[in-house]
Amino acid sequence: MKVLYTFALVFLLQLAASAQTYIFTHDDTLRGSITKERAWWDLQFYHLNVRVQPQDSTLNGSVTVRYKVLQPYQTLQIDLQRPMNISRVTQDGQTLSFRRDGNAFFIDLVKKQEAQKQESLVIEYNGRPHVAKRAPWDGGFSWKKDKDGLPFVATSCQGLGASVWWPCKDHMYDEPDSMRISVTVPKPLMDISNGRLRSITENLDGTRTFDWYVQNPINNYGVNVNIGNYVAWTDTLNGEKGTLDLSFYALAENLDKAKTQFQQTKPMLRAFEHWFGPYPFYEDSYKLVEVPYLGMEHQSSVTYGNGYKNGYLGRDLSATGWGLKWDFIIIHESGHEWYANNITYKDQADMWIHESFTNYSENLYTEYYYGKEAGSDYVIGCRKLIRNDKPIIGTYNVNRSGSGDMYYKGGNMLHTIRQIINNDEKWRGILRGMNKTFYHQTVTTQQIEDYISNEAGINLSKVFDQYLRDIRIPVLEYHIEKKKLSYRWNNVVEGFDMPIKYKAENGEWKTLKPTTQWKSIKVKKSSALDVDRGFYIEVKKLASAS
Ligand SMILES: [Zn+2]
Repeated sequence: MKVLYTFALVFLLQLAASAQTYIFTHDDTLRGSITKERAWWDLQFYHLNVRVQPQDSTLNGSVTVRYKVLQPYQTLQIDLQRPMNISRVTQDGQTLSFRRDGNAFFIDLVKKQEAQKQESLVIEYNGRPHVAKRAPWDGGFSWKKDKDGLPFVATSCQGLGASVWWPCKDHMYDEPDSMRISVTVPKPLMDISNGRLRSITENLDGTRTFDWYVQNPINNYGVNVNIGNYVAWTDTLNGEKGTLDLSFYALAENLDKAKTQFQQTKPMLRAFEHWFGPYPFYEDSYKLVEVPYLGMEHQSSVTYGNGYKNGYLGRDLSATGWGLKWDFIIIHESGHEWYANNITYKDQADMWIHESFTNYSENLYTEYYYGKEAGSDYVIGCRKLIRNDKPIIGTYNVNRSGSGDMYYKGGNMLHTIRQIINNDEKWRGILRGMNKTFYHQTVTTQQIEDYISNEAGINLSKVFDQYLRDIRIPVLEYHIEKKKLSYRWNNVVEGFDMPIKYKAENGEWKTLKPTTQWKSIKVKKSSALDVDRGFYIEVKKLASAS
């Protein structure tokens, strides 16, 4: 019996592994769903006040959470991941009891919560936070040293969640309208966080407190601390919304390289304002901050660790040469200011909204400075990185993103949609309009898909289904017999009807509207069908109709 049971268990585990299924846990649901204990209150403001102690890699501090009661309820969920610990919670000075369930804390409120009223909580916490092993992919704290042996410390926590280092409502659907971040560090270190620096306080114990204020909604993984012996300099950009303040922070040992490399910031901002509209956080300024890991789209303080080289750590992801014309981290992570920080996914399953558009921003940057063909070369060059292993959309309500194809395949889906729309000014209008319509909002994939379809005046739902929810690449099959070209879609979702552009015999670009049924047109010659390379599809010539 026991042997059989073990055998069955091993078999089940193998089955699960082979199907690449992951059994979601209770922790995943608490983290990834809008629980009853989250839904009843609307986040308005955080004050994160934290002391960072590089000498023993610990934190201690507090978070004040201000919220509005939407529907009265007496239990409130706050997340803080193991091994961090909440020591005390108070409301109006009264100490409250709470219960820990893994990485979630359920706080019992004593004061009667009334609809529309604004309330606040103070949460005191401490601990030695998870150390990032492969930042920014796994996330947590990076505790490094500069050349002089001084601490060089930074956080990154996309996916993993901000609750890895501070207590918060760790679900992306709800953002505070503003946030204050006070960070105390030993001298001579500085802390660079988000928004604007309001003050630096000298403390009696040899530390200083850097007080930052973010005037706009901010997603929780965007909040960051960057601690080091930085050298700073500033500049301004005359942008679409007026004067944008720019600040740059690098370690002294890299100052010369940084001053040269960071000059890519202004051309980058100009290109992205052209395509996407005004930089979304003028009030909070734009900062570029050196960190001891590759980089991350931290809102209004984009972090940089690309070695002061063009490309992605010196490599061109597209293998076309265009990717070496600019610094991948400056371009990509800043592109996220529009897609990730301005327009933010509600559920991590829809992470393509961040990565597909930002991957496409690399193409648009290339196009802005090197022409349309160069931009196309770049995005098409990235196709060889597509795996088609699993769908781009992940699993809802468990904080699970889909395939890494959300980058290159997502970028190519957008490039394909641009070919369908076949009007570059309209396409740019859609990108700019999207950043205006969903300004400082959290959204679902459906909102983005519907917006593009409505603005384009074309129902693109099957195109989104094909590229976001299926792993098959559409195959345009055709054959030519007796001066008749027959064509259809194969390997597609039901009802797939994407139009394509092809070069007609007179050299003009024309549109074909294939469906899954054979259709035909008259041709003079039986030469191969020349389809616009901008469409991410396969084209297959058949000997005859099958
Ligand atoms: Zn990204």
